[in-house]
Amino acid sequence: MNYPNLYLRIGDTWRARDGKPVINPANETVIGTVPHATRVDLDDALAAAEQGLRVWSRTAPAERTATILRAVALIRERIEEIATAITLEQGKPLTQSRLEILRGCDILEWDAQEGRRLYGRIIPAAPGMRHTVLRQPIGVVAAFSPWNFPMSSPARKVGGALASGCALILKASEETPAGAYLMVKAFIDAGLPPGVLNLIFGEPAEISQYLIPQPLVRLVAFTGSIPVGKHLASMASAHMKPSLMELGGHAPVIICADADPEVAGAAAALSKSRNAGQVCVSPTRFYVADAVYDRFCQSFAERAAAITVGDGMDPASQMGALANPRRLEVMETMVADARARGARLLTGGQRIGNLGLFFPLTVLADVPDDALAMREEPFGPIALVNRVSSLDEAIEKSNALPFGLAGYAFTQSATNADRISDGMEVGNISINHFVSSIAETPMGGVKDSGFGREGGIEGLQGYTVVKNVSHQML
Ligand code: NAD
Repeated sequence: MNYPNLYLRIGDTWRARDGKPVINPANETVIGTVPHATRVDLDDALAAAEQGLRVWSRTAPAERTATILRAVALIRERIEEIATAITLEQGKPLTQSRLEILRGCDILEWDAQEGRRLYGRIIPAAPGMRHTVLRQPIGVVAAFSPWNFPMSSPARKVGGALASGCALILKASEETPAGAYLMVKAFIDAGLPPGVLNLIFGEPAEISQYLIPQPLVRLVAFTGSIPVGKHLASMASAHMKPSLMELGGHAPVIICADADPEVAGAAAALSKSRNAGQVCVSPTRFYVADAVYDRFCQSFAERAAAITVGDGMDPASQMGALANPRRLEVMETMVADARARGARLLTGGQRIGNLGLFFPLTVLADVPDDALAMREEPFGPIALVNRVSSLDEAIEKSNALPFGLAGYAFTQSATNADRISDGMEVGNISINHFVSSIAETPMGGVKDSGFGREGGIEGLQGYTVVKNVSHQML
């Protein structure tokens, strides 16, 4: 086992603190201790970030880019060490941990390069008068990242903020701290000036309540659940601060009558098994045209049943343990509730063994709209398949929940694709595949799924403020 000792990073120091155990969900053993920041640590982090901002915001964009790229090169060199730590703390198979790190690197690289293109514009007006719109770093960012992607989720925030010239206080997940810790270490080893990137852990509610009102903090960036997101966004707005909220989803998937149900079923099983369904854009509600319903159900269930579940360190495992006992409880409750309301269990449905948080890929069909899983985000390996008789019905059902993050559709018809793209109320739609975003494209939600975007040119813009300079020539 190769799990790192963990420290806080504040200014130019690594700090050891008492804290809480980190658990490997594959065997429920303690693998480390996550240090918890004291109030003094938080005050020091604020002071350090103020200093860091002063230096970093005045560093040439090309130099900022070069520093981030040096850190990425170190992360790539250390991929085996980081991937092992992520699998041990979070449960996903090692191959998926490597892919998460490569994705995180891609995001950091793209943001780093885009930081050189944070252009403003010049607006012509009356003769002798010039209006110049500048984009400036927003300032110190308080960022909160979740446990499902221990490295790539904090990488989104670190990339956007650093490439835009901001300093950060990053509170990463206490349950999966090593992904963020090892990434931050690479930045420090790459020569990032002190105070630009500070890493803390602790009691999430205490930390957010203390940091968000601080005048120095100018932006709150959060990825996590809708209730916590609403709480933090309202705290930020009470102090007149903008926030970026990347919250939960309940992604609909429309399978049209002209789609190949076997191809769609195989793709759905693979996508749903990724990170054991603990992904905000995981496909969850399948609305399938009558004509292909039975074949889709069969293909999806067969492929789902064939997924090997086991310890992420075992190369044979295609899906790992759930990350924490809360997810296991929710899966068990949702399956029991759906079945009690008449849903058909096509595969899965029961915890595997009693040591390690393993739950199989589970497909339920004919699930009533009032079932718990149809209303709340499973955030785990449960897929719900229902029959629809028209595309209008499928779109209407897709939009029936308060979520609006990702959506998917399978069709060979350009007309259907256009109708779905126009009508589905989500931030990201993928047609005939399940990749909802890449580094170059904006990712984020509508409705309760949040606001603001990560990735794409929009991602960096969230970390800037616009200033208009109006200049009359003399
Ligand atoms: P939770 O609501 O307890 O916590 C969600 C995240 O917010 C965690 O990372 C937690 O540390 C943090 N958090 C909680 N209270 C906080 C506070 N007051 N201030 C700052 N941070 C706080 O839920 P959970 O059981 O950890 O996760 C399950 C739910 O979270 C899922 O149903 C899913 O909707 C959501 N989630 C979403 C994403 C995403 O990518 N959008 C990622 C992880 C979790």
